[in-house]
Amino acid sequence: MGIAVIPKGGHVLDKFESPASELPAVEFVDVSKSFGALRVIDNLSLRIRRSERVSLIGPSGSGKTTILRLLMTLEKPSEGTIKVFGGALSAGGRGLRESEVAPLRAKIGMVFQQFNLFPHMTALANVMEAPVQVLRMPKPDAKALAESLLERVGLKEKGASYPSELSGGQQQRVAIARALAMKPQIMLFDEITSALDPEVIGEVLDVVHSLAHETKMAMLVVTHEMGFARDIADRVIFMEKGRIVEEGNPAKLFASPDNIRTKAFLNAVK
Ligand code: ADP
Repeated sequence: MGIAVIPKGGHVLDKFESPASELPAVEFVDVSKSFGALRVIDNLSLRIRRSERVSLIGPSGSGKTTILRLLMTLEKPSEGTIKVFGGALSAGGRGLRESEVAPLRAKIGMVFQQFNLFPHMTALANVMEAPVQVLRMPKPDAKALAESLLERVGLKEKGASYPSELSGGQQQRVAIARALAMKPQIMLFDEITSALDPEVIGEVLDVVHSLAHETKMAMLVVTHEMGFARDIADRVIFMEKGRIVEEGNPAKLFASPDNIRTKAFLNAVK
């Protein structure tokens, strides 16, 4: 039997069990994902700490988006287990109870390349929708929350506008506010600037930078913008063919990568 440790005011822990505050926000344990014969994620193990910001870079088709989709439970692993704050979110080969998975999934927010706003709803209504429908938040509270989030992304004056009346950069900022409305502890960003005109990319990246500085959310960022990948992250992961080739401190990895394949990739995207 392990030695019991009693944390301040907490429950008794076995010495082999981490206290909840030390559990990683995200953990992939030997995860593989295949589509037919194609192995897209190949025995991947990965941990993301609470409040850690991780950029995921690599050639097209290396499995970056699949990692985010696995975390959103839009895909299921073929093998291995994905944990969120220590709880099993998804596992290859065995079914998990929806009642256990749903609260974990609710801790994760995602912003997509295509903003996916509801076109028939105003910016304000887009941000209010999930808190009202999913969290059953009273409408006046959801409205106050949505207004404060639109202000936070610099769109205080645009609540009454429909997506078609907004620029791509503004729509993407509404999409960020919409994800934040569910108060996620983990945010996933999937190529959020790829569909944008160059002149509005900066305003979207500025919003993500301010979130990184002002919140404690864990962030997993997939991007082709190498400057952004470097500046936003505590750690950069370079992937190829569903595997981690190299990872480390952003300044170091971008300035002098150890792996020849990382070097080749960075030279090619310069
Ligand atoms: P990345 O984000 O690094 O560009 P993806 O994760 O989008 O890579 O895709 C990895 C590979 O998996 C690609 O070869 C892609 O074509 C394939 N893939 C992704 N989703 C599916 C799917 N639903 N069915 C079949 N193949 C898929």
